Amino acid sequence: MAEREVLEVDVLFVGAGPACLAGALHLANLARQHDEAVAQGARAGAPLGELQIAVIEKASEVGMHSLSGAILDPHALRELMPDFEAQGFPAESPVTEDAVYFLTAKKHLKFPVTPPPLQNHGNYLVSLHQVTRWLASKVEAAGVNVFAGFAGSEILFEGDRVVGVRTGDRGVDKQGQPKSNYEPGIDIRARVTVLGEGSRGSLTKELIPRLGLDRDSLPQLYATGVKELWRLPAGRLHPGRVLHTLGWPLPQDLYGGGFIYHMSGDILSLGFVTALDYKHPDTDPHLLFQKYKTHPFIAAMLAGGEMVAYGAKTISEGGYYTMPRLYADGVLLVGECAAYLDAMRLKGVHLGMKSGMLAAETLVDALKAGDTSAATLRGYPERFEKSWARKELHRVRNFRQGYERGLVPGLMHTGLQLLTAGRGVFERRRLDPDYTHMRRRHELNGAQAPAPVPLDEKLTFKKLTDVYLSGTNHDEDQPCHLRIADFDICNERCTAEFGNPCQHFCPASVYEMVEKENGRRELVVNFTNCVHCKTCDIMDPYQIIQWVPPEGGGGPSYVNM
Ligand code: SF4
Repeated sequence: MAEREVLEVDVLFVGAGPACLAGALHLANLARQHDEAVAQGARAGAPLGELQIAVIEKASEVGMHSLSGAILDPHALRELMPDFEAQGFPAESPVTEDAVYFLTAKKHLKFPVTPPPLQNHGNYLVSLHQVTRWLASKVEAAGVNVFAGFAGSEILFEGDRVVGVRTGDRGVDKQGQPKSNYEPGIDIRARVTVLGEGSRGSLTKELIPRLGLDRDSLPQLYATGVKELWRLPAGRLHPGRVLHTLGWPLPQDLYGGGFIYHMSGDILSLGFVTALDYKHPDTDPHLLFQKYKTHPFIAAMLAGGEMVAYGAKTISEGGYYTMPRLYADGVLLVGECAAYLDAMRLKGVHLGMKSGMLAAETLVDALKAGDTSAATLRGYPERFEKSWARKELHRVRNFRQGYERGLVPGLMHTGLQLLTAGRGVFERRRLDPDYTHMRRRHELNGAQAPAPVPLDEKLTFKKLTDVYLSGTNHDEDQPCHLRIADFDICNERCTAEFGNPCQHFCPASVYEMVEKENGRRELVVNFTNCVHCKTCDIMDPYQIIQWVPPEGGGGPSYVNM
């Protein structure tokens, strides 16, 4: 058996999303500025010297797993890089106009005024894939090592102190046996590990309960966003135009909505977000999106176009009160896995970047002091509490919880929150985790899931067609990365009680109930289809599905998403 390599670094960032990349770049810049100031005698103390900073990313290249709306508020980027435009920031277009529509089954009604949280003047339409690739190039130019294709599979602890991350083994077959190309994962030992894994990060999910970091926070609430890119006939789009929709085809009691962005190059980016605190086990976020496109208002926009790309991700919508404790000995949490997302504005990239930068400022203090324990790292949440990011998140702290009973009460709550600096009718209302809202079939009292639509493969697509256009690729001869603790629960209890909702909530047809020769229907897990959205990890009603990273490099290829 090959020996496991050990790599020692000062700071390890896990996940090359906006939070970690901004954090790594800010840290490299601050360390350099500190050392220059010390060398010039302008600052007392010792230089930090050449810091070893590393970023690991599970995708084969930075940006391949980056998916978002995406409208970027440049607030944090401007602080990180005041001349970002001159440095080649890859904006698709500045936002030029906004509108919000309410959809009924056949009609669309334009809001007379775009609600302030959805006004995007000064923001940019971007491809998060392009933005993260560009940021990674700046990070590497600043001397940071970015390792793509390396998934963090395990946190390394010494007692309760985090001392790094073990990356996943490569070259392991389906049965867990080493193949001829076997390479054990590397132990990357770090003075501080910064977890920025995005929504429902697998290491974050392990860390939070172990250290009790959620002792004082509310359960996170999620939605699943499903998105397609369409190429439309030349000249039809108005780059910079942003439309949001509420209403149809969601049932009244469910939060969510659609987005339609006019990108450059005749590309229309559209998607649909479905909150996961739904009741009916047949609810299917992918199908709701397909149905959305059949609305006359949307179908007319897509006429003559061709769907060219697909992706899906979960969104951490719970907000300020769902933030876990952001630090412990040797570790910090940044970005969406730490709930940095403003659900009212449908934005998280700028908050993620700011979180990485606040972490970096604290890391400089900790490295200067030679103390990376929680006692020093608590400077990070203290910085957050004084920042504009906290102000923004605190102002919308009760937003998502206000939609507990659906759209109309939610809109009323939102109006009251806007009038009362975020308080609204209730403060810090606890909603139980999303999966607990799903009803067993006998509890549905005749309630129906949203009716399906025919999938014509022109306007509306099967999940497998969409998965093909997500560029998803996994080596088939590797252990399944969807770990099911007990298949008997799936095949018997879940079939009887819920009707196997995994077939519906997974937007990539990973879960399939297949009739076997003995007539028994059994769950088959087509893990190679997985687009890494994590919906199953969140929504499985028995909490027996665990998403873990597959072999590094596997997954979707989100080019331009
Ligand atoms: Fe998402 Fe789970 Fe389906 Fe993968 S298997 S696409 S993580 S729901």
